[in-house]
Amino acid sequence: MDAQQVFCPNPDCPARGQVGQGNMGVHSRKEQRYICHVCKLTFAARTGTVFYRLRTAAETVTLVVTLLAHGCPVQAIVVAFGLDERTVQDWQLRAGRHCERVHEHLVQQPRDLGQVQADEIRVKRQGGIVWLAMALQVSTRLWLGATLSARRDLILISALIQKVRTCALCRPLLFCMDGLSSYVQAIHLTFREPVPTGRRGRPRLRPWDGIYIAQVVKQYAGHAVTGIERRIVQGTSAQVNALIHATQGGGGINSAYIERLNATFRACLVNLVRRGRALARQETTLYQAAYLMGTIYNFCTHHDSLRVAGIIGGHKWLPRTPAMAAGLADHRWTVNELLSYRVPLPNWMPPKHRGRKSQALKALIARCCS
Ligand SMILES: [Zn+2]
Repeated sequence: MDAQQVFCPNPDCPARGQVGQGNMGVHSRKEQRYICHVCKLTFAARTGTVFYRLRTAAETVTLVVTLLAHGCPVQAIVVAFGLDERTVQDWQLRAGRHCERVHEHLVQQPRDLGQVQADEIRVKRQGGIVWLAMALQVSTRLWLGATLSARRDLILISALIQKVRTCALCRPLLFCMDGLSSYVQAIHLTFREPVPTGRRGRPRLRPWDGIYIAQVVKQYAGHAVTGIERRIVQGTSAQVNALIHATQGGGGINSAYIERLNATFRACLVNLVRRGRALARQETTLYQAAYLMGTIYNFCTHHDSLRVAGIIGGHKWLPRTPAMAAGLADHRWTVNELLSYRVPLPNWMPPKHRGRKSQALKALIARCCS
């Protein structure tokens, strides 16, 4: 147990979320508990991980979650491990929620995205259809998140574009997607900033510069594609081509990268298989399963096209995960590492205080907010 590597998870503690500040100590090695010397609370070493309060060994949970994320049917796990079906589903939900928090903390940070591709998957569920919309950064193949809705409409697309915006810096950005008109509207509504005026009332919203939109529209005859139309909705051909060249080294307007990712998701999520029998009963199951799959894809899976030529130790090629390509990790995470990752709490802010601060509060602020 290393008290220097953990932080206090108590949301009311002024020293919450801080690592290596000397406020943490080992409370009990036998019971695997730490103590925070600021708030005097003790907590289990597994707090904040998927394994918190589970009686099963972490290795078994990791194994089951890995199998689930790679498309193993729940029934197969139930039979092979002798677990209850509800236990397996609970672990999947837990892992999905945990991965969503990790994703929000690590992936949803502003970065220069370059080119983003988005697409929707039609998913059959018990009693109807749902749409799963996903987005991907082309240069690093980083999965940027997913949204789910019963209809393929502006609400679904707006929620997805909102997630893309949390990942974006105000730099030139190209969107490539299908011909769904909601994308254009959602991008116009989302990528804009208030202009500060100093006066009261709602400020005017100014659209971001350097947002370009291209569409790939396929014509079908039955199930066969008979023609592809590529069109630029916003931006000039030179601007769009420059971004395509910078992010994928040429190749023209396409949506191939997100379609490839859709195929991976369909192969690995039992509920997404076309004409399958393992239909999702609830939207939450599908949503959490998508986050589990997406985060394992980002952090734990080597991507062949991201490998770089090695220079040391005689390695010809060094494999990389999308997270490594995006600079979020320096090695491929194991699933156990992902499930044990503890998302730190945001820093504590001192309460708004009228009048002079007491000596005790001053000392607390000096200690915890430096
Ligand atoms: Zn504390």
